[in-house]
Amino acid sequence: MPQNDALAAFWMPFTANRQFQAAPRLLSRAEGMYYWGDDGREILDATAGLWCVNAGHGRTEITTAIAEQTRRLDFAPTFQMGHPLAFAYAERLVRMLPAPLKRVFFTNSGSEAVDTALKIARAYHFVRGEAQHTIFIGRERAYHGVGFGGLSVGGLPNNREAFGPLLEAEHLPHTLDQERNSFARGLPAFGAERADALEALIATLGAERIAAVIIEPVAGSAGVIVPPVGYLQRLRNICDRHGLLLIFDEVITGFGRLGTPFAADYFGVIPDMLTTAKGLTNGAVPMGAVFVGDQIFQAFMKGPEERIELFHGYTYSGHPLACAAGMATLDIYERESLLTRGAHVAPLFEDAVHSLRGLPLVRDIRNLGLMAAIELEPRPNAVGARGYDAQVQALQRGLLVRAAGDTIALSPPLIVEGTHLDRIIQTLRDVLRHLA
Ligand code: PMP
Repeated sequence: MPQNDALAAFWMPFTANRQFQAAPRLLSRAEGMYYWGDDGREILDATAGLWCVNAGHGRTEITTAIAEQTRRLDFAPTFQMGHPLAFAYAERLVRMLPAPLKRVFFTNSGSEAVDTALKIARAYHFVRGEAQHTIFIGRERAYHGVGFGGLSVGGLPNNREAFGPLLEAEHLPHTLDQERNSFARGLPAFGAERADALEALIATLGAERIAAVIIEPVAGSAGVIVPPVGYLQRLRNICDRHGLLLIFDEVITGFGRLGTPFAADYFGVIPDMLTTAKGLTNGAVPMGAVFVGDQIFQAFMKGPEERIELFHGYTYSGHPLACAAGMATLDIYERESLLTRGAHVAPLFEDAVHSLRGLPLVRDIRNLGLMAAIELEPRPNAVGARGYDAQVQALQRGLLVRAAGDTIALSPPLIVEGTHLDRIIQTLRDVLRHLA
């Protein structure tokens, strides 16, 4: 356990720092489906770290690839230079994406991927001589990371309130409808018409002022909000009718979370850009990526050849260690068919999480693929406190879950087996009874 000075030195992200320092929770080792705390206790990982360790922890192919890459080429710039692995990795990735997402721009995180996609959208209109397309459209309760762009299109009030003024953005209504869809299994039946709010916004703003629409196909950090049947297709149709760019933020849903490689595959709805991160490298090295439709890329390739087409990038875009980790991760995904495994496990997972219905405090349960939410009754006058209590109680019982407000989110590694699911559910039963 670090001493007090060390605990105070690290200003922890998205953390109640004073509360944490009084009762630190530390993870010191991980393998497969498990973490071990610094006290040596085994902790079942029901959140894939932070929705990222899709192939399970400590995969030797990945750690070996990283170690070998460090020795061969530790760093290489990708500004007006390159290294072969970044190109090979990019090519392998774009082959997995639905056409026409045939170009990839590398970043180091989901937040950077989102801000990059938003900047590409604005620049796309700019290079076409339509610079008046500046307004972004996001959605209530969306999480798109913590850059100023992502905050602007995001819809979680706590994340935004201290940081204004932000970029000009409007927000569609979220799709949670607990009157009509409570305890829905998989896609909720009702609410596709909420997409029509986009039509209304376009009528007010004018399509010629809109830069792009950005949506998480399944909203993750807000507590797993699953889109109603037909909703995403309806959004796509409206965007097509008005010539708007549609961005899917697949930082969570990318790489097998829904039992398909991407949510775009699951829903059969293809965006103009798609952001990812997390599962790219199985969480082992920070990396993000924006997949870009060819028509967007080509719009930038029209000026003089010696001119830089997009004045944007990161020192670590396409970092050799991230590319090495990403390649090894794809090897595992392919060899173990992990990107479609979720489709086979999802029915079992769904039954397991819905078996918590009727337990004390359980207000709603939502699920799709291998992500699920158990929404709890809030404590009076203390929004989020119940979720926090549940997370702490679960951890004390050797289970890592994530609280999003008063909702417990589950997103186990894609290697999860029935025995793990049994333990997750049994532990949550104990926690709920204890909290009640
Ligand atoms: N977009 C979505 C949909 C996310 O879920 C997240 C992270 N949870 C981000 C963006 C931001 O990613 P990062 O934390 O890597 O910046």
